Amino acid sequence: MNIVKDLLTINPYSRPGTKLGKVTKIAVHYVGNPGTTMQANRDYFESLKTGKRNKAGQLIYASSHYIIGLDGEVIQCIPETEISYATNQANPYSISIECCHPAADGKFTAAAERSMVVLCADLCKRYKLDPLRDIIRHYDVTGKCCPKYYVDHPEAYEAMRQRVRGLMGLGIDTTIDVVRRHGDCYTVAMQCKDKPVIYPGTAGVVTVCPPFPHAGGWRANIVAIGRPGESTGIYTRLPDQGEADGVLRFEFKIVE
Ligand SMILES: [Zn+2]
Repeated sequence: MNIVKDLLTINPYSRPGTKLGKVTKIAVHYVGNPGTTMQANRDYFESLKTGKRNKAGQLIYASSHYIIGLDGEVIQCIPETEISYATNQANPYSISIECCHPAADGKFTAAAERSMVVLCADLCKRYKLDPLRDIIRHYDVTGKCCPKYYVDHPEAYEAMRQRVRGLMGLGIDTTIDVVRRHGDCYTVAMQCKDKPVIYPGTAGVVTVCPPFPHAGGWRANIVAIGRPGESTGIYTRLPDQGEADGVLRFEFKIVE
């Protein structure tokens, strides 16, 4: 995943430079300001260095390690070795992710949520965390309604964490688009213990044959049955994830 590094200046209000202890949680947030961009939120954190005050006259302390934009782009504001001011008492042991959203209900765009899943999976792998236990909401720490959509819709929050788990538990050899002609077959290789679930997002474009064991992992043949110009996302999930949303792994496109 492409992450733009645009670190804040060290200052008492948004990047104190305090060393982060052992990372045991990933805290997700929404920016709470509908329609604002990733860069605008990053620049807001930077602007706090002059010592801004809220309406009550109190100094504002705020920041986040990462911010995800409306189109799924990601910026890093604080090194992972330092604390952010995002999650109150959890700041000393957590990495924070703020996410932009188009409307007041706080629902993330599909692209932003996908980046959240990929970023969380990467962090959970590197810090040896369990996504179902160690990805937390700001709400779980302070009771604040953040991220609003995941507080109002706990099932959407659970689905996101399941997608992280599904991504971490299933290695796949294909990450870029697959382009084939009608009738052609493509074989995808997957690494996981039990037989994975792999399926297309759009019907009528490909036939995904049942996975078969191969070389300690699994393989599945995907046959292009659609017309030129048609395409579909290919999704995977772990066998014990029931009907949970799968993770989009790559696009399958059909050409002349
Ligand atoms: Zn928050």
